[in-house]
Amino acid sequence: MELFIDLEKCDRAFAGEVASMPGGEAVRRCFHCGCCAAGCPVREIEEAYNPRSIIRKIVLGLREEVLRSDFIWLCSACYNCQERCPQEVRITDLMVVLRNMAVKCGFIHPSFRKQVELLAGTGRLYEIEDFDNKKRKKSALPMLRKEFPEVRAILEKSGIMAMVFPKEAGKAEEGKKLPQEDERGPS
Ligand code: SF4
Ligand code: SF4
Repeated sequence: MELFIDLEKCDRAFAGEVASMPGGEAVRRCFHCGCCAAGCPVREIEEAYNPRSIIRKIVLGLREEVLRSDFIWLCSACYNCQERCPQEVRITDLMVVLRNMAVKCGFIHPSFRKQVELLAGTGRLYEIEDFDNKKRKKSALPMLRKEFPEVRAILEKSGIMAMVFPKEAGKAEEGKKLPQEDERGPS
């Protein structure tokens, strides 16, 4: 771990960019009291995780360190920190801003990639087995649909599939460009 910050590498525009996004507006108001870190349940389990430190790095302009970090993907969105912040920094919303920025820059965490893959496959994060529906039937609960193909269509139309799986999207585009059987001339 580096113990000093090379100011030459700091990106002064970074905090401004974060502040221009909905949820990031108050980032520069942080006075580093640490209330957010004190009430964070993720930090209780993973000591290295610290929302205060993430905010400090944004303000310092450590763009790549923040956007490449696993930590921005660890937040469980419990809103404990946001409720406690005396400066009304919307820390939970800020984590979403950072994840969006990270994805746009191509820093996509494997856990997010997996979630998109699952959603594209069945439209659910958790597969519904026959066993689940049998149990529901016994309790007179309605059956659950196993698949939602419309979710994949949304992921494709919104560009999320292409963003998260650029290689596959490139191949699909290439496939579209290939001449169809009846368009090919004599070989
Ligand atoms: S609680 Fe608010 S002001 Fe305090 S360190 Fe966290 S973000 Fe900064
Ligand atoms: S919202 Fe995220 S950063 Fe804030 S307390 Fe919950 S887990 Fe920690």
